Amino acid sequence: AAAAAAPPRLILDLEALQHLDASEAGPLTRYAATIQAQRGDYNGKVLSIRQDDMRTLAVIYDESPTTLTERFISWGVLNPEAKGDVEESEV
Ligand code: C2E
Ligand code: C2E
Ligand code: C2E
Repeated sequence: AAAAAAPPRLILDLEALQHLDASEAGPLTRYAATIQAQRGDYNGKVLSIRQDDMRTLAVIYDESPTTLTERFISWGVLNPEAKGDVEESEV
């Protein structure tokens, strides 16, 4: 996003995450569970994550942040407004 505007937030749908195939969603599920544990935030249906966390997840999934963002949106676990969020910082 441009400096003039705050980037859209990255919001994971934790309920949708539970219904995905663990072979694909496993790393994301474990990552989200770790953030919940670090925050002590266990009661939410959604979890807001950092921009940096999408870049870390992109390394884990061996995808570009842009591709991974689109995949998570297509899975229904990431808010569609997140699209394009991490694109500009991609190398
Ligand atoms: P930390 O990064 O040293 O952050 C310490 C505290 O600062 C956090 O405690 C939180 O109260 C506040 N804080 C830091 N960054 C933000 C932010 O962007 N937004 C908000 N609302 N608050 C912020 P908390 O939540 O208990 O987290 C404890 C530690 O757990 C954090 O220490 C960090 O190491 C880790 N953590 C928590 N959530 C995330 C996350 O979404 N991504 C990553 N990578 N680490 C996280
Ligand atoms: P919002 O960011 O649009 O979030 C709407 C609601 O989604 C929140 O209502 C909360 O029920 C849920 N939610 C979003 N992210 C998380 C998450 O990481 N964990 C959990 N457990 N729930 C989440 P809530 O809590 O009543 O907050 C209302 C509004 O207050 C938020 O709207 C946001 O604008 C602001 N707010 C709340 N906490 C923070 C914060 O840590 N940092 C900032 N900057 N704003 C916050
Ligand atoms: P937010 O709380 O509305 O924070 C928006 C942005 O402000 C963060 O984007 C980050 O760039 C900056 N920010 C807020 N608090 C801090 C802080 O204590 N230290 C630093 N260095 N920067 C801060 P970011 O990192 O992409 O995080 C997006 C959202 O993810 C946050 O929205 C918050 O809802 C959640 N989040 C991220 N890290 C933590 C954390 O450690 N603890 C909690 N409880 N929530 C976090």
